[in-house]
Amino acid sequence: MRVTALAGGVGAARFLRGLVSVLDTEGDAGQSGQSGQSGQSGRSGQSGHELTVVGNTGDDITLFGLRVCPDLDTVMYTLGGGIDDERGWGRGAETWRVQEELVAYGAQPQWFGLGDRDMATHILRTQMLESGYRLGEVTEALCRRWGFPQLREQVRVRLLPMSDERVETHVVLEGPDGTSQAVHFQEWWVRLAAQPPAQRIVAVGAGEATPGPGVLEAIRTADVVVLPPSNPVVSIGTILAVPGVREALRTTTAPVVGVSPIIGGAPVRGMADACLRAIGVATTAAAVGALYADFLDGWLVDPRDGDAAVDGVTVRACPLLMRDLPATAAIAAAALELAAAARQPAP
Ligand code: GDP
Ligand code: CA
Repeated sequence: MRVTALAGGVGAARFLRGLVSVLDTEGDAGQSGQSGQSGQSGRSGQSGHELTVVGNTGDDITLFGLRVCPDLDTVMYTLGGGIDDERGWGRGAETWRVQEELVAYGAQPQWFGLGDRDMATHILRTQMLESGYRLGEVTEALCRRWGFPQLREQVRVRLLPMSDERVETHVVLEGPDGTSQAVHFQEWWVRLAAQPPAQRIVAVGAGEATPGPGVLEAIRTADVVVLPPSNPVVSIGTILAVPGVREALRTTTAPVVGVSPIIGGAPVRGMADACLRAIGVATTAAAVGALYADFLDGWLVDPRDGDAAVDGVTVRACPLLMRDLPATAAIAAAALELAAAARQPAP
């Protein structure tokens, strides 16, 4: 099975870890049933499943000359086993010596956490980008260290940036005397804790960006497309703003299913409600599902939102709190089941 997922950071990465474990457990059992004694499976003659993750790069930022891609790294570290599980981002067993030294110099900004181990990733990325490699190539190279693509016996995973070109999410805030002031998304999210209301959220450069190599193809040729629980505005919304992505989702023959990041009218972690407010959308599972209604076949909501309805979309309820790996795997399995149910009959 070929699965393609659109991903932000922590919410998506957690879900993807569950999805990888489900795919690995299922292995090629279903397919070997079809192919009899041979044990061979898959269209390509390869066994196992292929997961392509299309990652958001709108949160990317340059700090101290280093190119930082928070969402790509969160997915890479989480699936590669290098994540700090408690925080959900950054490297496990991290130390902060370099940051302490920068603070001692009074260097700005001090609000973005750059751990020592994490910094090695950014140093290499920056060096490779400066030698002319494209972000997709750099990401592939970094991921190799974490065991990609053969992450499990039965699962190959590719992580593709949504675009190799620079796209940067900016947040427009009210300045003094009725003026407006735009800040980088990270500054609003991390330094200001999304407290000052966003007048607008703009994915600068998205409209002119080209999807990364393989992105549209991965959507078009997938057997299933999944939207993990991710921020609908600054993670999924940014990926959808890259020309061609939304159209590929509308026209792919694969069923497209999503998992609500909103449970009981509130985000589970983070401040997605502040982002939704900026685009005038209610913080409900139904309203978020409606943002994707033009391409969505199935929408998974929590039982607390069991009455959610989205026009033209099959809505199913299942507990959506990713408490631990088994609970998360159950959500991923439910998403795949919903996709199978939503699969259009072959013409
Ligand atoms: P970020 O880039 O690190 O902010 O992460 P994402 O965009 O991938 O995901 C953030 C979204 O995931 C938030 O809107 C959360 O509400 C959602 N989320 C986090 N944990 C859970 C969970 O356990 N269950 C569900 N359904 N959503 C979650
Ligand atoms: Ca993010």
